[in-house]
Amino acid sequence: MKKRRKKRVYHNWIKEIAEGKTNQFYNSTDFDIVREKVLERDRHTCQFFLGKWNDGIHKPDKIKIVKATMVHHIIPIKERPDLALDINNMVSLSFEAHEIVEERCHWKFKKKSKPLTKERW
Ligand SMILES: [Zn+2]
Repeated sequence: MKKRRKKRVYHNWIKEIAEGKTNQFYNSTDFDIVREKVLERDRHTCQFFLGKWNDGIHKPDKIKIVKATMVHHIIPIKERPDLALDINNMVSLSFEAHEIVEERCHWKFKKKSKPLTKERW
């Protein structure tokens, strides 16, 4: 009997993400394919530091060209699992920009607190 090529497993990601299987999703071939599409669309350039995209809260202090290493979901997949594979809900980011957007470096911003006294001229 001829051996069949391994068939790709079909996933119902909307259901599986809702069940909390986000790691499986990020490690899936489905996500891999879409991630590659997004990176190609964005020319592997971080859209945050390019000044083309931001979350409405954080902004780059300087426009620069940085290599994108990851793809970020604009609306988190836990909120909208149905948009988990929608390239319009994804943007290419550098590691640094992603940390900023996901607010993983609060301390960095807290250090730069504004002076309490107003400047007067
Ligand atoms: Zn993210």
